Amino acid sequence: MKIQTDYQKLLERLESETKSFSKLGKPADYIPALAKVSPELFAISLITRDGNAFATGNHTVPFSIQSISKVFTFTMVYRKIGTAIWDRIGREPSGTAFNSLIQLEHEKGIPRNPFINAGAIVVADMMLEHCQNPKDQLLEFVRSLAGDESIDYNQEVATSEKATGHRNYALAHFMKSFGNIHHPVEEVLDVYFNQCAIEMTTDQLSKAFLFLANEGINPFTSEEILNPSRTKRLQALMLTSGLYDESGDFAFRVGMPAKSGVGGGIVGVIPRQLSLAVWSPALNNRGNSIAGIEAMERFTTYTANSVF
Ligand code: GLN
Repeated sequence: MKIQTDYQKLLERLESETKSFSKLGKPADYIPALAKVSPELFAISLITRDGNAFATGNHTVPFSIQSISKVFTFTMVYRKIGTAIWDRIGREPSGTAFNSLIQLEHEKGIPRNPFINAGAIVVADMMLEHCQNPKDQLLEFVRSLAGDESIDYNQEVATSEKATGHRNYALAHFMKSFGNIHHPVEEVLDVYFNQCAIEMTTDQLSKAFLFLANEGINPFTSEEILNPSRTKRLQALMLTSGLYDESGDFAFRVGMPAKSGVGGGIVGVIPRQLSLAVWSPALNNRGNSIAGIEAMERFTTYTANSVF
C-alpha cells in the first residue's frame, strides 16, 4: 500500500470516504439542545508540532465539545494538586457506559477514571476547591491553549443539560453520600454542565491539544502546561479511558490517545508529531462519533503512523 503523507489531500480523502458513515448513527438526543444539530456536518483538522495546519469540511463551525472538556479540567486540577487527585479518582478503564452508576456503589463513591461522568464531576468539585472562579479560569485556560480568544460557553446547551441531567445529579448525590463530593451538588454540576457546553471548532480543538504532542509545552506561548511525566500519564489515561467503554476497540482500530464527546467530536494525539480533531455528530451506541472513528482509523492506516 502506498503511504500517504500529503496531509491536505489525505484529509479530503478521509472526508469523501467516511462522511456517509454518519448515516449509521444519530446525534445525541438525551440533551435536547444537541438533538438539533445536523448530522450532515463533518470536519477534520490536523496540526503538526511545528504549526502546519490542514483542514477539510466544516472546520470553522463551533460545536459542543461535551466530554472533551474533561481533558481540560483534569489538566487544570492536575497542575494544581498533582498526585493528590488519585485519593479520590482511579485510573482504570471502566468498561461501563460513561454515565453508569453501577460500579460506584461497589467502589464506594470513587470513580474509575477522570473521563467517565462521575470522575469528571469529582474533578469539577476539585475545581471549586482550587480555583477562585472555575468557569472564568477554565475558559481562560482553553483560550490560551488554542491561542483563540473567541471560544465561549453556549448557555442554551448548559441550560438544556441542567434541566435534563438527572443521571448526573444522581451520580453527584451518590458520591456525596460517600463523602467524595465536598461542595453543594448544584454548584458542582454548574461547573460540569458549563464545561460540557463549551463550543469549539475542530481547528481550535486540534490546536488546544497540541501541547500534548509537544511534550507538555503550549507551542503558542512556550508555557509548560504539564511536565513530560504528567504529559505521558494524561495520554495514557486518554488511551485507556478516553472513549469510555469503547476505549479498547478504539486503541485497537486507531492506536492513538484520544478523547471523545457526545457532541460528535474526537481529538487524538501522536506524541511529538501532531494533533488531529474530527467532528461528525451522529453517534454509535457507545456515544462516540461513528464517522469520526472511521476517519481516524483510516488516518493511521493510510499514513502507517500511530503510537505503536
Ligand atoms: N454532558 C454529557 C453528559 O454529562 C457529557 C457526556 C459525554 O460527552 N460523553 O452526559
